[in-house]
Amino acid sequence: MGTWAHLQCGGHLSSNDHQYRVLIMRVAVLGAGITGVTTAFALLEKGLDVTVFDANRYPAMDTSFANGGQLSASNAEVWNHAGTIAKGLTWLFKRDAPLSISLRPSWRKIAWLAEFIANVPNYRQHTIATARMAVEAREHLLHMAACAGVDFDLERRGILHFYRDRSSFEHARAVTELLREGGVDRRPVTNQEIHAIEPALSGDFYAGFYTASDFSGDIHKFCRGLAQTCERRGVTLRMETQIHGLRTGSDGVSVLSARGSGQVEPEYFDAAVICAGVGSRTLASMVGDRLPIYPVKGYSITVQLTGNEARHGAPTVSLLDEQTKIVASRLGPDRFRVAGTAELNGENRDIRADRIQSLLNWVRDLFPAINTDHVVPWAGLRPMLPGMMPRIGRGDAPGIFYNTGHGHLGWTLSAATAQAVAAAVTAASAGTARRGWLCPV
Ligand SMILES: Cc1cc2nc3c(=O)[nH]c(=O)nc-3n(C[C@H](O)[C@H](O)[C@H](O)COP(=O)(O)OP(=O)(O)OC[C@H]3O[C@@H](n4cnc5c(N)ncnc54)[C@H](O)[C@@H]3O)c2cc1C
Repeated sequence: MGTWAHLQCGGHLSSNDHQYRVLIMRVAVLGAGITGVTTAFALLEKGLDVTVFDANRYPAMDTSFANGGQLSASNAEVWNHAGTIAKGLTWLFKRDAPLSISLRPSWRKIAWLAEFIANVPNYRQHTIATARMAVEAREHLLHMAACAGVDFDLERRGILHFYRDRSSFEHARAVTELLREGGVDRRPVTNQEIHAIEPALSGDFYAGFYTASDFSGDIHKFCRGLAQTCERRGVTLRMETQIHGLRTGSDGVSVLSARGSGQVEPEYFDAAVICAGVGSRTLASMVGDRLPIYPVKGYSITVQLTGNEARHGAPTVSLLDEQTKIVASRLGPDRFRVAGTAELNGENRDIRADRIQSLLNWVRDLFPAINTDHVVPWAGLRPMLPGMMPRIGRGDAPGIFYNTGHGHLGWTLSAATAQAVAAAVTAASAGTARRGWLCPV
């Protein structure tokens, strides 16, 4: 099970002359997106023996591939609000609205929506808790990037939300109070101030909110760089490896996986952390846990900024347009990422042309100097729980832990939730150590 490490006594372990063997806990991390890679790093920092599994050939090829780029405590408001649901109902019949729900009947979708509505009373508490997590995540993310020396096109220029009408701005004013309780400080700005903060943005707006402490960056570059550092420091990456089963017992967790078209083989661990994005629901069901994650699809375009006019015409401050629910982030000198839409249509990764067209139109309207002849479209599935809070910590089955279900804020929250789950795993290992994991030879 665990890895035996031989330690010569006389160091900090014992004052005697004996030799000791320390059993290091072996942990499997299931999934190599942002939640899996940050969890692997946090566990490694705690001195555990970590193996990461993923079906893809490289880390961060699923939802953590081309998202909106925002590390946004200012976007911590959960969507379980009566006003948001009322607005959502009017969007159902508009083709280019920010929300789209497939009318194909599905028990899973109906049950998820019912639980989503049942969470309206938790709106306030969940928004404040999310804001707190997002603020805590900032320093962990920067620490991880510094330790790993990762360049991920970090832009520390804040996030600017802008509103086109009075009622949405007034709602945002109320949200600002909740964010403040969670430790996020954002300030109201006039139309004139909006253009002073981001001169490339054209159009007139009712007003905005600016959060100077938020930032943005490329999730994919971050994950790839951090995964490489983990591997260099001893983490085993089992890529192109599909997990087919999980068995738990008093002696640990057995992960049943197959590499490529190979045979399914078991591998034994003391614990496993489920970080499998929209795949987490299936893995949880293998150990008897219910995890009602629904895949909420979103789209992005990455605009290649060719030539000086496009580079100067693109924003450097990260943006959120409240009416269209579109977010945008500058990624280094040559790329501009624009993302939006919440589509409930099962595990469907098709890229819809009309959704991409809405993102392109938004760029052309608000940034007319940007040339959109070189654009890469993408779609990804947000792993969303109905209460919009991630599941973090111990599961019901022995040895099973979760760090998953981060929905629209996985990039923003993962560095903090990885610390929380690593602490839960080490607390469990401390219990085990008391049962004799430190053994004289
Ligand atoms: C359009 C869009 C814009 C977004 N913008 C933002 C933003 O601006 N800011 C923000 O904070 N968040 C944003 N998000 C959300 C964020 O991207 C996600 O929350 C985050 O990427 C989810 O990470 P994850 O690790 O949970 O899942 P993933 O990145 O999907 O990783 C899960 C991994 O598990 C693997 N896996 C699953 N099942 C198995 C199995 N059985 N065997 C082996 N491997 C398995 C998959 O291959 C995958 O690699 C956005 C999302 C979308 C779609």
